[in-house]
Amino acid sequence: MSNPNENASEPLYVEDSHLKEFDARVVKAGPKFVILDRTAFYPESGGQPSDTGVITYAGGEAMVRKVMRRGRDIYHYLNGDIPVGTEVHGVIEWAPRHWNMRRHSGEHLLTGLFERHGSGPKVYSDLERLDFKPSELDEETVREVEAEFNAIVDEDILLRIYYASREELDVGDDTRKQEFLEKIPRNVDRLRMVDMPGHALTFCVGTHVKSTGEIGRLAKLAFSKAKKGRKIIHFFLEQAL
Ligand SMILES: [Zn+2]
Repeated sequence: MSNPNENASEPLYVEDSHLKEFDARVVKAGPKFVILDRTAFYPESGGQPSDTGVITYAGGEAMVRKVMRRGRDIYHYLNGDIPVGTEVHGVIEWAPRHWNMRRHSGEHLLTGLFERHGSGPKVYSDLERLDFKPSELDEETVREVEAEFNAIVDEDILLRIYYASREELDVGDDTRKQEFLEKIPRNVDRLRMVDMPGHALTFCVGTHVKSTGEIGRLAKLAFSKAKKGRKIIHFFLEQAL
């Protein structure tokens, strides 16, 4: 392949995390999978699970059960076959995607707040959990973060997403951010930054809400201690906005 971008799937979810439906064409296909020229289906990545939904076309439809990125291609795993060249219409199952987006964005905000309170390095995170180690976090700080989080949700602050080169991105003496940059392949110099102005800034290729109000308030923020100075935070959002 002379041009590596020639057959890459255009990831529509990058520019528009709220896109629920789209038109595309099947460019590769196999038993129970397709690769499309463009897609709004988010592939499992960065702690965010993949989307599900349906792909319809003239004469049929297939359920999208899982979406995975392999190299530059985004594989949609289906319950049936669709031939190459077929024009299709994709529809994301929105409720789970939005719930994932809200929790993922909430994790950004919580990380920013905990770091500001001297949480220590984050060593693990998913859609309902954050681990810091070594960490001096205590119950009082956790309750402060909880109150701040809910106040920022009530403020409904717009997120800002922008691109920066490594040089433009001055991480200063922040060793966690330096280490984070080290993990990104050297050939990636267009970093997608997700900023909750004043509260959380991080490199991320996931899908996010438009404003902090769309995250929703915390229903519960639980705190526990583990071995060797590890502190574990379990967070749960209120489902209704
Ligand atoms: Zn993110």
